[in-house]
Amino acid sequence: MKPNIKNIAVLTSGGDAPGMNACIRAVVRTGIYNGINMFGVLQGYQGLINNNIIPMNARSVSNIIHLGGTILKTARCLEFKTDEGMDLAYENLKAHDIDALVVIGGDGTFTGARRFAERHGVKVIGIPGTIDNDLYGSDFTLGYDTAINTVIAAVDKIRDTADAHDRLFFIEVMGRDSGCIALRASIATGSEAVLLPEQPTSIEDLIKQLETGAATKKSSSIVIVSEGHKQGGAYDIAKLVKEKFNHYDTKVTILGHLQRGGSPSSFDRILASRLGFAAVNELLKGSTKQMVGLRGNEIALTSLDEALAAHNFKLESDLLEMTKVLSI
Ligand code: ADP
Repeated sequence: MKPNIKNIAVLTSGGDAPGMNACIRAVVRTGIYNGINMFGVLQGYQGLINNNIIPMNARSVSNIIHLGGTILKTARCLEFKTDEGMDLAYENLKAHDIDALVVIGGDGTFTGARRFAERHGVKVIGIPGTIDNDLYGSDFTLGYDTAINTVIAAVDKIRDTADAHDRLFFIEVMGRDSGCIALRASIATGSEAVLLPEQPTSIEDLIKQLETGAATKKSSSIVIVSEGHKQGGAYDIAKLVKEKFNHYDTKVTILGHLQRGGSPSSFDRILASRLGFAAVNELLKGSTKQMVGLRGNEIALTSLDEALAAHNFKLESDLLEMTKVLSI
């Protein structure tokens, strides 16, 4: 039986990711197309608690498909983790007669959404929005493709100067627990080595790899370091390598928060549109406590329970193997 949903709200929560705006646009317009009253919640769960809930129409989301960040703002909200905070949020939703919620964020956001649904019976659908690509149930998350493209553009520029001066660069990219950005960026930039949180790499092996490159007349070397690598970040690794390997002038670049910003790539805009469209259609069909994701280029549902219980941290073994072969 179809649920009687009249009012839906959308929020973005946790870390921001390029594509969130394109997704808000898709959610709002799909709702309006189906005759639903649409609302936006400002600053994630904090906005629910503070009653920062605004009506949205098709024009509220004009000209945002190409913008990074999120027009609804995002926040980390400790109060929502308490029962009192959740109850306050629910009172505000009820006051607006809101029946269902679309949340765009990472696993923290989904944990909050699941608890909220269980405590108050609010219907929720989650959309995976994180540059780390570390959520189970979707091959890709919003913002991941754009973040890789941002890293590639930066590393290409660094390669020019590294080459001109015969330098060895250690470039740190985001990914505390997930090496997804580092691995793909490494392949796409032709880096000499990549250090990932999932894989211990001995400094001796890394030096061996760099020595082979130097012996075969490589004029520069680039090592991509995931911020979550167990032996430390780019500065730590550079220090360890420099002690034993000084063929090159060594430099370090931390790419930092620029990886979160920027106009979403075509892939992220289309993914965001598909997931936003699917999220509202699923709510209208009666789904709840589900995440909409992409698997094998098809929209796929994963229960929030399952999405939160598992992690897709397994990096593709063929890509790992390839980085070694193609960097000789
Ligand atoms: P992400 O969604 O990117 O993983 P966070 O881990 O910061 O980001 O989570 C976003 C927000 O989700 C938190 O600030 C909090 O408001 C909410 N949240 C996280 N864990 C819980 C929880 N156990 N119970 C209720 N809300 C939670």
